[in-house]
Amino acid sequence: MNLMKYRAAQVVSTANLVSKFKKQNLRRVLMYHSVLKNTESAFRKSDIYSISETYFTSHVEYLARQSNSVNRRVVSLEDSSSSGVSVTFDDGYKDTLTIAAPILCKKNLPFHVFVTPANVISGDNRYLSEAELVSLSKLPGVTIGAHGFSHQHLNTLQATEITDELMSSKDWLENLTQRNITTMSYPHGAFNSQVQEIAASVGYLYAATSSWGCYQVGVKPLEIPRIDVWNLDNQTTLKQKLNGQWDWIGKLLSPLQATIK
Ligand SMILES: [Zn+2]
Repeated sequence: MNLMKYRAAQVVSTANLVSKFKKQNLRRVLMYHSVLKNTESAFRKSDIYSISETYFTSHVEYLARQSNSVNRRVVSLEDSSSSGVSVTFDDGYKDTLTIAAPILCKKNLPFHVFVTPANVISGDNRYLSEAELVSLSKLPGVTIGAHGFSHQHLNTLQATEITDELMSSKDWLENLTQRNITTMSYPHGAFNSQVQEIAASVGYLYAATSSWGCYQVGVKPLEIPRIDVWNLDNQTTLKQKLNGQWDWIGKLLSPLQATIK
């Protein structure tokens, strides 16, 4: 989405012209990817999935102030309460540990990180190393989940390949972190009923999608919708997204967004 389209969407959302999707008593699961130092983010403005540390901090400050609000308090993805907000990160970027985690931990907010083992093994310094992933997994409030073994479109694979991707990522993360891994998110948001059946059979209890929407807790836990957070989303936009004011465009864009990451 280019800047002009984003600004146009912002005008419509701010005016709250399309609010028929507005829902309060459901969980909203935020989907982040990379959080960059402000100097770095200046060079990556075109990447909608790299948010600046300044904007991310403003999001966390807002969420921390909502701790007494049933609809807005931050809870872990597996929490059984029907409403609230859950914070998730995909892919296992190094900055999840170095930038995002300290900001969230300072406010005692729980969060979830879906990690692709192949990114860790690759040695690419944008991603967590094994030692960094272990450190991240030990922080209070952190839950590690899987994100496929090699970030493939699971809906395009044969059953044996899907099983291998889902089992090997689970086993690898369990061996490294010494914790049970029972959650995952679908790489590229790509899944189908076969992928879900295999996910359940190998022991996943929750799986997050890239489809825009609210999560009705306990209903289709292997198809949890999320709210996409983009690089231009300031604190006001985050509030609007949690209010449901951006649901209209999210539902339009979801099929496109799902193909990006
Ligand atoms: Zn991903």
